[in-house]
Amino acid sequence: MTISHAPEATPSPSRPDELLLSVQDLQVEFSTSAGVVRALDGVSFDVRAGQTVAILGESGSGKSVTAQAIMALLPKPAGSIVGGRILYGGVDLAAEPVGRVRELCATEIAMIFQDPLSSLNPVYRVGWQIAELFRRRRGTPKQEAWAKSLALLKRVGIPDAETRIRDYPHQFSGGQRQRIMIAMAIALEPKLLIGDEPTTALDVTVQKQVMDLLADLQAETGMGMVLISHDLGVVAEVADRAAIMYAGRIVEFGGIREVYDHPAHPYTQGLLNSIPSNTARGERLTPIAGSPPNLLALPTGCSFHPRCPFATDLCRNQVPALRAPEGWALEHLAACHRSEEVLAHD
Ligand code: SF4
Repeated sequence: MTISHAPEATPSPSRPDELLLSVQDLQVEFSTSAGVVRALDGVSFDVRAGQTVAILGESGSGKSVTAQAIMALLPKPAGSIVGGRILYGGVDLAAEPVGRVRELCATEIAMIFQDPLSSLNPVYRVGWQIAELFRRRRGTPKQEAWAKSLALLKRVGIPDAETRIRDYPHQFSGGQRQRIMIAMAIALEPKLLIGDEPTTALDVTVQKQVMDLLADLQAETGMGMVLISHDLGVVAEVADRAAIMYAGRIVEFGGIREVYDHPAHPYTQGLLNSIPSNTARGERLTPIAGSPPNLLALPTGCSFHPRCPFATDLCRNQVPALRAPEGWALEHLAACHRSEEVLAHD
């Protein structure tokens, strides 16, 4: 990442409900030795200040590619944005040079990755790594930067922070390292935080603690959040909206309770039926039949049809548009020809 050593201005705080990010009809392709893969096909969603959008789906559905595209982290030269816009503060990130996007991301948009060990530098003390952000980005004097680093470690719940600030990443548990990553991500008070499977490597108790911490920080700072997860249960308590992805497309979108309580797409129903907490004690989980499609050879019509218990000939021949099912909330959308029947069956 290109880092300027000149101090930067602190970004102005977001207004409540301000539109921070608008992803519009985003299309991403990867060139592979076997051919061109359309990894994202017409992905659209907005994120407002103080709002959390969860992007959910199985591996390969396009969740992480969405985050990579926003942060200009698509693997080069294979991956590229071939259509659509990523509007942030009126600037189309998809059309900006990579260096400019990364500069912007370094101060206003932060990302938490699944594996903190790969993001923390193993040869520097964690306190120094956090303090260095303030010194490089804000020109903060050394002692003050160290004090800010300590305050952040306390804020994210590192016990005995006064001592542990001098420890190296490998001396912390997985949950503590993820907290340190969160401390680094929020250090410069980003307007937007993107978490790509931020709790996947953690046990269930620590997962909840990290999610609660993110929710608390959001309430404090008003930042917008995009949380990417394959686990619908993990984000249920903190997200406002849910985007369910399958084969590079959003197949269902809406308020989190609306989507969880009344899934209008058979794929969402399948994901929810495979969450242990959604199943009564003693009842078997129902996994989704089959496996995700090969993006190089997508099924015709609705990509989900080979796995769908509702599939008809129409499904096999015609790609369903994302639409509000008749008689349901206009902001609840599903890409399914039979979403009214799916809702009635739920
Ligand atoms: Fe199933 Fe057809 Fe709906 Fe696709 S369009 S999810 S195949 S019912």
